[in-house]
Formats: sequence, structure tokens, C-alpha cells
Amino acid sequence: MSDNQVDNNGNKDEYEEVCYMCKRPESVAGKLIRIQPNLCICQDCMQKTFDTVNNSGFTPNDIIGMLKMSNIPNMQGMPNISMINLSDLQNGVPQSQKLKKKAPKEKREREPMDIRSIPAPHRIKARLDEYVVGQEHAKKVMSVAVYNHYKRVMSEPEDGVEIEKSNMLMIGPTGCGKTYLVKTLAKLLDVPLAITDATTLTEAGYIGDDIESVVSKLLAAADNDVERAEHGIIYIDEIDKIAKKRNTNQRDVSGESVQQGMLKLLEGAEIEVPVGASSKNAMVPMTTVDTTNILFICGGAFPDLDEIIKERLSSAASIGFGADLKDKYDEDDNLLLQVTVEDVRKFGMIPEFLGRLPVLFALESLTEEMLTRILVEPKNAITKQYQKLLSMDEVALEFEDGALEAIAKKAKEKKVGARALRAIIEEFMLDIMYEIPKDENIGKVTITKEYVEKTGGPLIEMRGVSSAPRIGMRG
Ligand code: ADP
Repeated sequence: MSDNQVDNNGNKDEYEEVCYMCKRPESVAGKLIRIQPNLCICQDCMQKTFDTVNNSGFTPNDIIGMLKMSNIPNMQGMPNISMINLSDLQNGVPQSQKLKKKAPKEKREREPMDIRSIPAPHRIKARLDEYVVGQEHAKKVMSVAVYNHYKRVMSEPEDGVEIEKSNMLMIGPTGCGKTYLVKTLAKLLDVPLAITDATTLTEAGYIGDDIESVVSKLLAAADNDVERAEHGIIYIDEIDKIAKKRNTNQRDVSGESVQQGMLKLLEGAEIEVPVGASSKNAMVPMTTVDTTNILFICGGAFPDLDEIIKERLSSAASIGFGADLKDKYDEDDNLLLQVTVEDVRKFGMIPEFLGRLPVLFALESLTEEMLTRILVEPKNAITKQYQKLLSMDEVALEFEDGALEAIAKKAKEKKVGARALRAIIEEFMLDIMYEIPKDENIGKVTITKEYVEKTGGPLIEMRGVSSAPRIGMRG
């Protein structure tokens, strides 16, 4: 900080300078150049200005001279330097040039990554188990792939053995925990994570986010720390939406070309991204992010992929013991677990793309039993959250086993995986959360199966009375 003021108690000014042009604080933009007592510009913006004006024939000295002449009113008319609106500088600049400093905890120094700080696969899986129910195979595959990925990042390439990147392709029905797994993984590894949707990606030059925008999202998630971003994770959801259309003779530009456009990114490329902004424009400083060590995870529901798998399995079976096996797969909810690269290629992903996502695995669709467990087992299970809320009113909340099963059954019928659970619970908990705080004598509420199924009410117990069930509310 260049001009921190110290008050009578010896405390430093808790404001820091910001660049007049890009508005980034000094802690992010680096040392600022003071042009006027109340005007600082970061080095990136200064360079940009030089570059812009160079094209118009001015020398750097001309520029500094011009910037200093703050009271020349027609400065704004100068070619290409309209961004320095010098007449604005007359009043109020000191305030607008300072930004409240972030709390020190956000500035905490992170240890540089080293192999000992990466938990072993069984530890990664154990941490995932705390949050994600079921999906044993997926958790195991991910733990190993992530461990290998970070070993690769740390490894010395001198001996000529180069470890292949472990980018992943994750297939599973909606709401089965794909995004949740990735989020949990990033949290436990303490690496930045950017989540994006493949449907919004387009080739550069078209309307929509261009493919490189995912890298700038990651940079933002890493607080503009390029080194941290380069060790981060990018999750691209709905990747099946950029499959080539099957059964058409026309060239499908949208999906296939986005896949093509992503190849370099997945493999490792130096990408120029804007700092502190989501779009590139002349005045936003740029930085280069190398994607070689960024872990890419793609996920999607791949509807109808099970038909392709079924076809493959039954045609293999019909060679041997006849066609009676054909229907055998119709009942199988988890055909996706038998997916191969060839199936996904048939679905419409191009071989080059699949080649850059070598870790392929599928997630199970959630059964009623798994949905019931999701309600109570994870560390931040939704029932635990409601229990915590009511405990603040000193009211105990319990769910009968039958009630949990009834919620799971309703959720399963909605066919959107675990996502339905919250909506169902929220619907009937609204009355409870509204009514209970009205009566201070209520000590315990038990959610019954009948209440979930709307054929009865919850059990309400009063404080100090051992057991006085009362059917209340909706009945
Ligand atoms: P998708 O597979 O479509 O990406 P999500 O991961 O977004 O689904 O799941 C939606 C929500 O459902 C998550 O935020 C999480 O709370 C819950 N959920 C889904 N699957 C599981 C699971 N296996 N274990 C625990 N919670 C889960």
C-alpha cells in the first residue's frame, strides 16, 4: 500500500487504492502507478493505453503528459483515450479510487501444492462418502483419477515418462449426484472450481459464451490467481447436448464444432482470458492461463444411450444362445454402468473428444432406498438442516421411518433424482416452520407417514408433558 494512513491508535487505513480504469484493487492488480495525487492506474491498463495510443502515433511520454493535464476539458475528445474522463477527476475521485480492503482471512496464504498435501484415494473416497450416498464405483474411479491427476501435475517430466491427463466423462441420469460429486471433490481438495453448461457454449464468433469463457470463470473462482486457476477443476455439464445429431445426412455444425473447439482446451493450451471481467474488450487487461494441468470433468445424462448399450449387448448375445435374451435388458435400470467408449461414440461424441476424456464411468440411478438414505445420512442432509433450524427454537424434530420412505417414494415418481426431495419436504415443512414458533409450549414435532401422504397430521408434543400427541395443522 502506497499511502496507508495511520490513525491515532496506530491502525492502518482499511481502504486500498483501485485502478481508475479497471477498478481492480492494488492487492489484485499489482503495484499501481500514481499519475496524479488522486489518480492511480495499474500497469496492465497503462500498457493497454500505450498499445492503443501507439497505433495512433503518440509516444509514451505524450500519454503521460496528457494524463497529467487533468484540467484540459477537451481531453475526452482525443482519439482512443476516452476512457480517461479527466473532467471526472475534479471531484470525488479519492473516494471512488479506494476500495474497502478484504477481510484478512480471505487473503490467507495458501500452501503451495505438493504431493503430500493430496490425500490418498481411500481418503478422498472416505470424504466423499460423508456427503454422497451410494455411487460407490463412481467415487472410487474419481478418487483414483484425481489422485493421479495431481501426481501428474507434481511430477518431473525429465525421465521421459509423461503421465496422461485424467480428464473424466461422467454419465448418469439427472439428479443422481454428478455435480454434487464434483463440488464436494473441489471443496475437499481446496481447488477452485468452475461449472458451466455445454449448451451455452458456442464457437468463437457466435452468440453465446465462447469456449474459452470457461477458463475465465475458473480464474474468477480462483480470485484471479493464475497459478491457483491452473490447478483447478472445470466441470462441463450437459455435455450430451453437444453430440452430433444421429441419423441425419446433414453436417451438424453446432455440436460437432463445439466438440472440435474444445479439443485444445482439454489437452492443454495457453488461453488468453480477461481479468476481472467476463468478456474481452480493449480496456480489460488480459492474462494467459495454461490449461495443461486443469482437470476437466464432463457430465451428462445421455438420454437413449441405454438403447445403444442394449443393442450392443443383445446383438452380442444373439450370436450365441438365441434371441430370448433380448428383453432381458429392458428391466435393467443400470444399463448405463456397462457403457463403453464405442457406445458414447455412437451416441455422437467424436473420437478425438473422447480420446481426451480417458476416464469414462457411469453413475447409478437412485433407488427409493438410496433416496431415503440421502434424506438422513449426508453430513448436511436436508432433515438435519430442518432439525438445526427448529432446535434454535428449542423444538425437537423427528421423522418417522415411514415418513422418510413416503418422501423417497414420491421423489422417485418425479424421475428427477434427489432433486425432488427438497421440493417435497419444503412443501410440507412450510406449515411446520410457520406454526411452531407461534406456540412456545411445543417441545417436539414428529413427521408421520400420514402427514407426508396428506392423510393425517404431524405429532406434536408439549414441553414438560411426557407424551401428549395432538394432531394439528393440515389433516
Ligand atoms: P446431477 O447429477 O443432475 O448433476 P446434482 O449433483 O446436481 O445432480 O444433484 C442435485 C442435488 O441432489 C444435490 O445438490 C444433492 O443435494 C442431491 N444429491 C444427488 N445425488 C446425491 C447422492 N448420491 N448423495 C447425496 N445427495 C445427492
